[in-house]
Amino acid sequence: MVSFYPGPSKVDERVPLWTRKAHKAGLLSANHRSPEFEKLYRETVKILKKRLNIPLDYGVFFTSSATECWEIIAQSVFVGESCHFFNGAFGEKWFNYTKKLKSGARGYEFEPDNRPDFDQLSGNPELICLTQNETSNGTQVPYSDIVELHSAFPESLIAIDATSSMAGIRLPISAGDIWYASVQKCFGLPAGMAVMICSPRLIDRVKAQAENNHYNSLAFIIQNAERFQTSYTPNVLGIYLLGELMKSRQRISVVSETTNRRMASWVNLVSNHSSFDMLISNAQVRSDTVLVVKAPSGVVSEVHVKSLESGFVLGRGYGDLRDTTFRVANFPTLKDQEIERLKAFLKTHF
Ligand SMILES: *Cc1c(COP(=O)(O)O)cnc(C)c1O
Repeated sequence: MVSFYPGPSKVDERVPLWTRKAHKAGLLSANHRSPEFEKLYRETVKILKKRLNIPLDYGVFFTSSATECWEIIAQSVFVGESCHFFNGAFGEKWFNYTKKLKSGARGYEFEPDNRPDFDQLSGNPELICLTQNETSNGTQVPYSDIVELHSAFPESLIAIDATSSMAGIRLPISAGDIWYASVQKCFGLPAGMAVMICSPRLIDRVKAQAENNHYNSLAFIIQNAERFQTSYTPNVLGIYLLGELMKSRQRISVVSETTNRRMASWVNLVSNHSSFDMLISNAQVRSDTVLVVKAPSGVVSEVHVKSLESGFVLGRGYGDLRDTTFRVANFPTLKDQEIERLKAFLKTHF
């Protein structure tokens, strides 16, 4: 069975091998204040920065999930206002979680086929929140829009949920202040950990605010990370797997080309198929990592039944789109050969 679910998705085949290696090295029983762990943390951050083209002065922290990052940002990063641009379920959830904790959360909803309109913002918002890749409907905020947003609002902090795109495509890291992603999507690792990448100015601001009321207060996480430690016993295996995975991957500019080439080929297949259509017609905002295919509901349910029989797990449509779309992950862990088999299946049976 090959999982094309857009998260949790296919886990890298070398995970069992790496797990045995970590066990053999004694890392899984190592204390998180030991020199062994500090070395693991330091080296994992180093290789991650190298592969994902993260500026050296950015901080890298580990949390348990992207959902936890939503909460950390709400509690530790801003005091006044956060402006949330969203066009789908994940961006909206982030906004809703934030609203529960802070009265200054503002929502700016936009249509899935449009680009976010940042001209609606006035002054210098304290924090602007974006979902770079909206996993529910297969849209993305283009690279250049994030770069332009950063130059239009140089005083504002920018937080970006890149859960289903980080490690799959190139991202303008230096244009954002907090980027985060959980590892069960483009990283192709077992769920239960997320990576949070923070700019030096964000780190300075969080330290000055010194919000310290929670076990996962960002100031506390940063303070521990300065010694390559964590505030609670972390997912040591997850950190180890991340390091091994990054060692084995090519740099993001190369990975990104493969992702784009594969997605172009998927779009070609879907567009030329009589029963299928792209949910998102505007190519400018279409995701490179999550394909969302629209089809009559009878066809969608048949796709799920037959694909399972043939050894493929495809993603259900998300929320309101459950019956009329299906989703296909275009994540780096999938092999060309697996993708070709799925394409051949879809062409033959539909
Ligand atoms: C999957 C996903 C999340 C949630 O990730 P968890 O690891 O379950 O917290 C958040 N945002 C986006 C865009 C996602 O795709």
